[in-house]
Amino acid sequence: MSLLSAGDILFFHRQSLQNDDFSSAVSRVAIANRSNQSITHTEEAIFESEACLVEITSLPLSASAIQKAVQFAESCIGSPYNDIFAPDCRNSQGKISYYCSQLITESYKDCGVEFPDHRLNFKDKKGDFIPFWEDYFSRLKRPLPQGDSGSHPSTLRMTAQLQLKSTIRSAIKGNIFPLKDSFLETLHFIGGQTLKLEKGQKFEVLKPRNAKLLCSFYAATSDEIATAIEIAKKAQISWQNETLVKRGSILQKAAEIIKENYKEIAEWECRDNGKPICEAEADVLSCVDTFQYYAGTCHTLLGQHIPLENNRYAYTKRVPLGVVGCIGAWNYPLQTCSWKTAPALACGNSVVYKPSPLCPVTAHILALILRQSGLPDGVFNVVQGGAETGKALVEHKDVAKVSFTGSLQTGKAIMQSCAASCVKPITLELGGKSALIVSDDVDIEEAVACIMAANYYSQGQVCTNASKVLVHRSIIDKVEDVLRKKTLNMKIGDPLDVTTKVGAHVSAEHRDKVQQYVRGAVKEGARLVCGGERVNVPECENGFYLSPCILAQVTEAMTVYREEIFGAVALLIPYDTENDAIRMANDTDAPLASGVVCRSEILHVFFS
Ligand code: NAD
Repeated sequence: MSLLSAGDILFFHRQSLQNDDFSSAVSRVAIANRSNQSITHTEEAIFESEACLVEITSLPLSASAIQKAVQFAESCIGSPYNDIFAPDCRNSQGKISYYCSQLITESYKDCGVEFPDHRLNFKDKKGDFIPFWEDYFSRLKRPLPQGDSGSHPSTLRMTAQLQLKSTIRSAIKGNIFPLKDSFLETLHFIGGQTLKLEKGQKFEVLKPRNAKLLCSFYAATSDEIATAIEIAKKAQISWQNETLVKRGSILQKAAEIIKENYKEIAEWECRDNGKPICEAEADVLSCVDTFQYYAGTCHTLLGQHIPLENNRYAYTKRVPLGVVGCIGAWNYPLQTCSWKTAPALACGNSVVYKPSPLCPVTAHILALILRQSGLPDGVFNVVQGGAETGKALVEHKDVAKVSFTGSLQTGKAIMQSCAASCVKPITLELGGKSALIVSDDVDIEEAVACIMAANYYSQGQVCTNASKVLVHRSIIDKVEDVLRKKTLNMKIGDPLDVTTKVGAHVSAEHRDKVQQYVRGAVKEGARLVCGGERVNVPECENGFYLSPCILAQVTEAMTVYREEIFGAVALLIPYDTENDAIRMANDTDAPLASGVVCRSEILHVFFS
């Protein structure tokens, strides 16, 4: 399976590659694939050649015209491949240009497409024929077509008819850090290659800290998803046959690379998501633990030997599922990706991962890290896009299992999709409405520290956010007073500043949604203690900042009591008896987490 179709044209841009490496890679592929009636080179040519950049372009011709061109080319050169190259990488003006798998101009002329005239050149700079090409054409039993009409890559590239299909930056085998900003141009990662796709819906990602453009990408279409899944399916077969030791060592290596570069990775997370850098660093370091942990579990993935009567025995064997389709949310982009990927890989599965279109960057960085760790190409893939891309991934017949993190609503839709396709297993980590019970015997300062951690971490954009703060009526005024003072003291600032405690919301839309919840609650009768206002951060003027908020006198009838706000909004709700507190904590359709702050053990909490 390849990203290419018959009739496509490949432009290889080399930087450090030696001529011979490229030529021999292409000729190997050409010879190995003679039975393939395609005029293009296969992806192997790209992988083996290690060209720095490959652009795939196509002509807007009908399938029958392409077929005609393919047949014409084959009749001319006696090969299913259009394997004539301008070997010295120079155009007729002598300027360094592009290498390509060149369609013969004539074959397209035959279909009515005119290209600028150009003559083929197989000589080196001294004017001598390059031995590779002499040998090449002698193997084909054809004279060297020196001076024949042909479309040199550089001129071919200029033709208006060509349409760019995708750009592939090929494998960098060495250390990927420090990352160059250019990686943001090719955020898809399929078959070990970083890709720019250009057919799907366009997404623009703004930096939450200052609303400036971070990157943009086109979503993977269902065809491109199918390609990624097919590549993952093929790669999974050899991955499952790797020894458990090898699998573990690759995951361990990934853990080491993340650890060595955690500060740089955290900066990217921070730029992409808007959370304070100190939190982003903690997130990234937790991924080190994740990969280390699963590296260790590889050795435990053993079956059982069960003795039976008459010297017979039964045994169990653990086998991977195949391709696991994973979809992540935007609030903990790298963590979510690691939680899904590390166990799936440890068990011998391959993964196609779709991050949230709001935070697409660090899943891609993880792909680069895994490649550097030695993970075979195609075992971990990242496809970018939104709901449509996610749906195509979930519903594909070759995705054996789905793992999803996101909202309750999307989780329900995905569960339906999984049931409708072929009843595939699914793991869901969804949104919630959680509570924190503060008993009357607490140390107020300690309790307030707990309330702040449970509500303001990551601007409140945490699935386990305990927005319902149930406080014993006898201490609620005191708690409110201390909480207000401490909340007002929190530094709201540039997420990249190490002293910042409150960063930016992930998007302007999400910031506005949180603010709407606050305004709605006030309309319904809640008392605004502080916060919920837009904040102007110097040098980050247009960033998506909102001050952390406290709402008091919140009642069970209010919208904020029921719905997940996903923002830094603490709801102070009084209770009189333990039973009352427990009832309100459990009074939700989306129970996820719960907490209790108390000094004695008298509070007998039972959560459903
Ligand atoms: P979301 O549900 O809007 O989107 C999550 C992902 O699903 C995105 O990648 C999105 O593109 C994709 N998606 C959307 N519709 C889809 C469809 N029909 N089919 C397939 N994929 C689809 O959630 P979000 O706004 O990105 O994340 C915030 C939510 O995630 C919150 O509710 C939060 O509580 C929850 N969350 C839960 C956990 C947990 O561990 N329980 C952790 C983090 C976030």
